Amino acid sequence: RILVVGSMNMDIVTGVERHPIPGETIQGNETRFFIGGKGANQAVAASRSGASVAMAGGLGSDSFGVDIRERLAEDRIDLDYVVEKPCTTGIALITIDGTGENNIILSSGANGRYGAGEADQLDLSDFDVILLQNEISPEANERVLDKAAEKRIPVFMNPAPIDGFDQSQLSKVTFLILNEVEAEALSGIRIEGSSQALEAGKIMLDEGIPQLIITLGSKGSIYMDQTGNQIILPAFSVNAVDTTAAGDTFIGAFAAKYVTGAELQYCLRYATAASALAVSEPGAQSSIPREEQVQSFLAK
Ligand code: ADP
Repeated sequence: RILVVGSMNMDIVTGVERHPIPGETIQGNETRFFIGGKGANQAVAASRSGASVAMAGGLGSDSFGVDIRERLAEDRIDLDYVVEKPCTTGIALITIDGTGENNIILSSGANGRYGAGEADQLDLSDFDVILLQNEISPEANERVLDKAAEKRIPVFMNPAPIDGFDQSQLSKVTFLILNEVEAEALSGIRIEGSSQALEAGKIMLDEGIPQLIITLGSKGSIYMDQTGNQIILPAFSVNAVDTTAAGDTFIGAFAAKYVTGAELQYCLRYATAASALAVSEPGAQSSIPREEQVQSFLAK
């Protein structure tokens, strides 16, 4: 079983001809609502790839909280560890102009209020892997890392967004999964492809991280560990129309296969295929593929 301790958001997206200037009111086009948040996206990706998944985190006492619960339950995600906080649900207000340029205001709401106290209540003994990101309070992540270390449960840490990430957490991470931007920030190496990624990875391994993956968008990903194992995986060549949640799909799909005890090479190939399918469709959660789709893509 997989436990995701992380964020759940309602993304409110309005198309505009151009973004308003301060003080200006403009007409928007149709407004659409999407469920997001890195935690929720990774949970959905893992569940659609066949894993038994529980989600822990905070929702607000508003109707968005109710909507998110319903949607995640449809994806067969166990919500017993989701708590209701006396505030709003995490919300992203997004406007997209005619050129595709977006403006995003993220209001963390209940995600930011999910703290060490709630994390302390979690019973981790049921879980084989725990997934964390950087969209809830650092104190909550810290508690989960400590509790997981006591029970020797592997934690996949995705330090995203990297802005504000508490680097002292890295010493407790068993498996780091990050993209180019995050790897650059943590290693100080400018990454253009797999050779620089391997260099950056080495710096992080030298700091004691046991296993890591760096995803490189259309260039694929690399895996490295303390035993000297290195795997370079090219991406599948697809027509990418929307890369939102590519990384979340990769992580959730990878974790779903990892908990089955499958070979690492297969887990990586599976995650690469799942994320290639996700970028081939518009949308974030709606584009996260199911296991059957991934398997038939791999069989081609
Ligand atoms: P993030 O969404 O966190 O920035 P990446 O952009 O690195 O993550 O994407 C994660 C994975 O998704 C990549 O390792 C790759 O396998 C897949 N992917 C991303 N973009 C593409 C693309 N244009 N074509 C094919 N696969 C892609």
